[in-house]
Amino acid sequence: MTAPCPACRAGALEVFFEARDVPVYANVQWPTAEAARAAARGDLVLGFCGRCGMIYNLAFDSARLEYDEAYENSLHFSPTFARFAEELARGLVERYGVRGKTVLEIGCGKGEFLSRLVELGDNRGIGIDPSCPGVEDPRVRVIPAYFSADRIDATPDLIVLRHVLEHVPDPHALLAEMRRVARPGTVVYIEVPNALFTLEDLGIWDLIYEHCAYYTPVALEGLVRRAGFSPRTVYAHYGGQFLSVEAVRNGGGARLEGEGAGLAPLVRAFAGRYREKIAYWRDTLERWGAEGRRVALWGAGSKGVTFLNLVGRERVCCAVDVNPRKQGKYVAGTGQEIVPPARLGALEVDTVLVMNPNYRYEIEETLAALGVQARTVLV
Ligand SMILES: [Zn+2]
Repeated sequence: MTAPCPACRAGALEVFFEARDVPVYANVQWPTAEAARAAARGDLVLGFCGRCGMIYNLAFDSARLEYDEAYENSLHFSPTFARFAEELARGLVERYGVRGKTVLEIGCGKGEFLSRLVELGDNRGIGIDPSCPGVEDPRVRVIPAYFSADRIDATPDLIVLRHVLEHVPDPHALLAEMRRVARPGTVVYIEVPNALFTLEDLGIWDLIYEHCAYYTPVALEGLVRRAGFSPRTVYAHYGGQFLSVEAVRNGGGARLEGEGAGLAPLVRAFAGRYREKIAYWRDTLERWGAEGRRVALWGAGSKGVTFLNLVGRERVCCAVDVNPRKQGKYVAGTGQEIVPPARLGALEVDTVLVMNPNYRYEIEETLAALGVQARTVLV
């Protein structure tokens, strides 16, 4: 199966990987285990564009997703993530002199990052997000809607787009709208999951239905360039898991240069390596089950929910999350309860699966503080 590539509109997407019946929403938690198990499912049919390096889910149907207030994927309750966000905000304010300026954040979520940018540089903030109920900060104005240039009545000096582009079926159209609200010299900061981490380091738990698009560094840089922005820097951070581009609006778009070709061997090898990793974890959980171990998983986000659905349905007793908005609810597709760390002792858990190495230290510290004698295992 092939389809035209929506990012470069020149190459074709060739299918290289399929996974069926994954939950449509990894980041919606359910009020009961039954409702969680009955959650809607969809398919991943990933295609690769050898011209620009993009990866898309050909089975994605945006009509099946609605981002309302039930959508909860905030990571700000984790001190590790909060530190990362703080350094990022400070870096942007410093590098681009964002002081007394107007900052627009598209897909601002609950507005934590935008508020911080406003605070750090004494800026004005505009946030636009259909899932945002409002922000307390008086210097931040929130528009509860999907973004289009017509909805913004100011000219931003900095536009922030974090973890949005991977949800958007037509990224070129979104960047064109961003260009319309920008002035020459407006800085854009775009952050997405790093598809190279998924391909190279087998970050396979990041493959979720909500993400229709997966960006490799060359694909992101090329897309931004062709949309009329000049990339200043493209880099991976957060342990290689996130990919960012900082760019400035310029006079016109660039041409496609066929940047994706170098990725083809990695893409071809992916499905086989994916199957091996899944088999390893099925066997491991099976063995632990036979040994009578009580296993919990830490992190009821995309990675944790994907792991539970693919391999951990029966053998993992609960999911732990520090976000109180998730606690007491249930994991989409599999129905495990999401519990606060303090419950682990009573649940007699002896093994904690760490879904993200970035949080290992934080998790081990928390377990020690709670007096929970469980060993941590990196997934
Ligand atoms: Zn393409």
